[in-house]
Amino acid sequence: PQRVQQFLEPSVWLEFSPLSSLCDAINLGQGFPDWKPPKFVTEAASKATSDPSWSQYARSSGLPSLVSSISKTYAPLLQRTIDPFKEVCVTVGASEAIFLACQSLVEPGDEVIFVEPAFDIYFGAVIYAGATPKFVSLQPKETGRPIVSASDLQLDYHQLREVLSERSRLLVLNTPHNPTGKVFQREELENIAKVLQDFPRCFVLCDEVYQHLVYDDEVHVPMATIDNMWERTISVYSAGKTFSVTGWKIGWAIGPAHLIRPMMLSQQWIVFSTCTPLQQAVAASLEQANQPFENEPTYYAWLKKYYQRKRDYFYQALIDAGLHPVKPQGSFFIMIDISEMMKRGNIRNEMPPIVREWWNQGKLDIDATTQEAVDYNFCRWQAVEKGVTAIPSSAFYSRQHRHLGSRYVRFSFCKEDSVLEQAKERLLKK
Ligand code: PMP
Ligand code: GLN
Repeated sequence: PQRVQQFLEPSVWLEFSPLSSLCDAINLGQGFPDWKPPKFVTEAASKATSDPSWSQYARSSGLPSLVSSISKTYAPLLQRTIDPFKEVCVTVGASEAIFLACQSLVEPGDEVIFVEPAFDIYFGAVIYAGATPKFVSLQPKETGRPIVSASDLQLDYHQLREVLSERSRLLVLNTPHNPTGKVFQREELENIAKVLQDFPRCFVLCDEVYQHLVYDDEVHVPMATIDNMWERTISVYSAGKTFSVTGWKIGWAIGPAHLIRPMMLSQQWIVFSTCTPLQQAVAASLEQANQPFENEPTYYAWLKKYYQRKRDYFYQALIDAGLHPVKPQGSFFIMIDISEMMKRGNIRNEMPPIVREWWNQGKLDIDATTQEAVDYNFCRWQAVEKGVTAIPSSAFYSRQHRHLGSRYVRFSFCKEDSVLEQAKERLLKK
């Protein structure tokens, strides 16, 4: 089918994790924690997988124990009671929640708006639904000045208003934001909500998978808590990020019944249900997470501190290595500006010969259209020459806008301290 044609090129993930292994590089590309998940989480999984009562299909839109834990856990965050059986849908990771929302709420020909740069999986969800993607971009607050913090980036509300129309069906937001680490402030969300008042047909999908990873004095504000927005917002979360179990692929969507019910009905025809024992393990983990953990009042408080230390360390490491990081307010990503570095003679904008050779030998999957992309070639060079893998940020732009992202590359710092230290050593080497 025509809609699939543009996905027949490998995604950025298919190139850079294998490339990292081939170069024996430190993989700070794809974002996944490299530490053991907390013991209470893995013990809950062992218990559930060895108990035959959790071995068969679950209720299609979520195991009762899990939707109940979700409704209890999220009521304070979303500032309302949540009906576990009508307002929650458990999915195969946050990724499937996004796919389901598009399949269930969007008509072919409808328009879906993204904020670029955007997590690349959104593009697929929209195209597979037969919808047309439209874009607004995060831009520097002050043009001409280099961005030093993710807070220097903002949405252009005029551009948003211009892109919205009666065909707009869904606006996809993401806070804390992948790849920039921006945390949308309450006022920014209120401004977006204000613009949306004139477009009553448009819902919001707010991807909040990094809800717990906010730094310094930042606070995560869910879009659903902004005045009048609950009724038109689907909030999406991921156990993978919260409990450092990205391979479990358990996520959930929360929203008003009129938006969640179509997702529940579609779920029956797509995957029917998600992994029962792991749903039970996540239910038990959510129950446990509000208890004291490692001398912190809750697991979440510990998680935030744990990541804050890593953010602080790696941000400083990048500065020490003479790079130009953009300080993230949240998430486990950090971008660097490579524009100065690309002027140096030893970094050339071409695919390193060894990478081309691996590609020719079929050891690597590469999207052929990225051969000329500056940030892709920087990341290839950095993996080969420095032994550290990052992700080119133009991968987070639609094809027609890829040039807008070529100035930055993204590191993930969800790695053990020793790995971050080793990455620093390698980056420091001239
Ligand atoms: N949204 C964002 C912003 C992400 O970075 C990720 C991580 N892959 C996801 C959604 C998908 O989450 P999951 O692994 O739970 O599908
Ligand atoms: N969210 C992660 C990232 O952006 C993982 C991406 C993926 O697995 N597709 O790095």
